[in-house]
Amino acid sequence: MNLNHKFISKISEEESKRKRNCIIDNCNEKAINSHLLQRNGILKNIAFNGHLVERKVKDPYKWTANGEITEFKEIGLKKAFSLPLLCSNHDSEIFKPIETPPLDFNNYKAQLLLSYRVTLAEIRKKEIVLDTFTRILTLKEVNVRDKANQVAFVTGTKLGINDLNIFKNLLKTEIENPKQEFHFEYFEFPKFEVYASAIFSPPKTFSFNSSNPDKTYEQVFIHIIPLDDGLKVITGYHKNYVNRYIKKFIKSWRKTNNNNLSEKITQVFCKDIENWGTSPNMYKSMSSDNIKKFNKYFYLSEILPSFMIPKIDLFK
Ligand SMILES: [Zn+2]
Repeated sequence: MNLNHKFISKISEEESKRKRNCIIDNCNEKAINSHLLQRNGILKNIAFNGHLVERKVKDPYKWTANGEITEFKEIGLKKAFSLPLLCSNHDSEIFKPIETPPLDFNNYKAQLLLSYRVTLAEIRKKEIVLDTFTRILTLKEVNVRDKANQVAFVTGTKLGINDLNIFKNLLKTEIENPKQEFHFEYFEFPKFEVYASAIFSPPKTFSFNSSNPDKTYEQVFIHIIPLDDGLKVITGYHKNYVNRYIKKFIKSWRKTNNNNLSEKITQVFCKDIENWGTSPNMYKSMSSDNIKKFNKYFYLSEILPSFMIPKIDLFK
């Protein structure tokens, strides 16, 4: 790579910090920092001194370098699990049912809302990546080989946004007029101090791969929510967009019990989803050896099929 790292980092930082508009169609208000899971009713439950620890994927540009692509960062509650997504009105109006106690996630409407919010967030994240790479492409330092890689990446990201927009609209319609078009399963476990909310397309396809532009890729939702009385896991899909990998994923949760929960969660964090967080206490209990392995396997899971990735338990 001949690209100037300093330039790239600067662009990347500028794009992720840039003020953005509310993501709801035709809303021109500025977006506030929206939490993907409620700050006071959920994230606060497992915070210590107002802080949590989140696993972040480093600058996507650095993915091509052979090495660790993720890091753990201590983060204040105000910033935890959030991004510039919705204006203040839409943030409180749309998501009121999942922000007002008593929180009940064994409820179709709540499950749709969680999935809607994470779909919007995933679109926004991809928009930020797209803006970053589009700007990088204009740099005169970009050589021909780099350019080809970046163009492929930009195209892949655009296709990803198209698919997510389809799910965004399906969810919006279903929230307004429920017809049971989505299927969710709800699981309860004892207290476990981790959180996540994600939409992904299994088997995990690496964005650099040439994807089929005419196909809408099936997506699965997963929400891992630490409530006061235990950990709740919700996973689901749209009935017209489901494949055997998604069914297998849901089935694996049915087989998860108190004994294999931490191994299952490690596997999901390692192979399926990028962004998640944990309590500072739980983070302290992870061994540096396990963290090293975890980062390595996460990197490998981007390039190898999942059966080739060894099993580990980050929380043991
Ligand atoms: Zn708005």
